[in-house]
Amino acid sequence: MARLVLKFGGTSVADVDRIRNVARHVKREVDAGHEVAVVVSAMSGVTNQLVKYVKDTSEFYDPREYDAVVASGEQVTSGLLAIALQAQGVKARSWQGWQIPLKTDGAHGSAAILGIDADKLSACMKAGEVACIAGFQGVGPDERIATLGRGGSDTSAVALAAAVGADRCDIYTDVDGVYTTDPRVAPKARRMDRISYEEMLEMASLGAKVLQVRSVEMAMVHRVPVFVRSSFDAPDAGQWNGTLVCDEDQIMETQIVSGIAFARDEAKITLLGVADKPGVAAAVFGPLADSSINVDMIVQNVSPDGKTTDITFTVPAAEFARAREILGQARNDIEYRELRGSTDVVKVSAIGVGMRTHAGVAARMFRVLADKGINIQAITTSEIKISILIDADYTELAVRTLHTLYGLDKA
Ligand code: ADP
Ligand code: ASP
Ligand code: MG
Repeated sequence: MARLVLKFGGTSVADVDRIRNVARHVKREVDAGHEVAVVVSAMSGVTNQLVKYVKDTSEFYDPREYDAVVASGEQVTSGLLAIALQAQGVKARSWQGWQIPLKTDGAHGSAAILGIDADKLSACMKAGEVACIAGFQGVGPDERIATLGRGGSDTSAVALAAAVGADRCDIYTDVDGVYTTDPRVAPKARRMDRISYEEMLEMASLGAKVLQVRSVEMAMVHRVPVFVRSSFDAPDAGQWNGTLVCDEDQIMETQIVSGIAFARDEAKITLLGVADKPGVAAAVFGPLADSSINVDMIVQNVSPDGKTTDITFTVPAAEFARAREILGQARNDIEYRELRGSTDVVKVSAIGVGMRTHAGVAARMFRVLADKGINIQAITTSEIKISILIDADYTELAVRTLHTLYGLDKA
């Protein structure tokens, strides 16, 4: 007998038939003698609609009320799943975040989990009652509903798995595992049987939205084995594919590059004609940091005349307008000639723990992209990844080209 936390994403609970299908997956695990808790997302599209209602109501909204509204999608699916399970003869009840309670900080809209009091939940699981838990939500220090950021049900599930001491956290989604890149963009993407926490963390942070970044951090810290699989596999198939996210030393074969990720939610800002003197970078990036705007890639050109230079950097696309405004206000301190910006860019990254010990990965990337006529606008690297910024029109071409280059295409 094992203790399991299962999580079903939006497409897996998109309508009542699919919720019944989820209930069949859950019943299979219960019938096998396992203690089960299930975390559900809102039906696909519902959270987007709720966010839109909020924004349509007022451009300036109270983030606590935003959370009260957008958390409601998960309340519906947790109740419906409990009803579907009961109809299949399985004991079940729904739980909202505050009922557990799953406690968060006060950052409404992207709250972090501070702790989970798992006693009541554990008792429920032990008594053989399936806990159907609304993902994406908890309760803040102000005793108001707080949501965990988009895609946050993954994090709810892994955090709950850690809190109840689950043997595994199964993430059911609309693909049968983690692929070498997004299978929707590269048809030759391959499913991985295993991926290390570290590589998965990079993949997720660099745009592979199959798991929310925080869920991977949480799994890595608490050493929760996470198994990604498809809810569209027949519940009674007896055998299924998936990807285990686990420790590096549980993986036999490692490749130099194990995956390609891309993120379209970056924006590029270039400051032209900035004085080339000490203190300028601080004058540019200080005000952005003060406003909590995350700067990612940075390129400073060599100054041709020793007096002025150009600085290019990226910020999240959602912060683009705010960043421009802040830099506009700081113009007297920074003294630049012109500000140019674009959201038509994409960050493409190659990830692999093998890069620690192998040279030449970047050089090959730059060569092959040059051969395809793709211009690289910025570069960043870390021990296990290389990221480049390119024109968004070349996303598919760059992803597929790099996927082939590093030998990731399926046979
Ligand atoms: P859910 O609603 O179940 O949480 P998501 O839409 O958040 O599902 O995540 C699943 C999607 O992630 C897939 O449909 C796929 O398009 C995308 N994806 C991006 N990168 C990858 C990858 N490397 N492997 C698998 N899926 C990926
Ligand atoms: N429903 C939320 C969202 O769409 C949380 C999730 O699905 O994980 O972002
Ligand atoms: Mg998701």
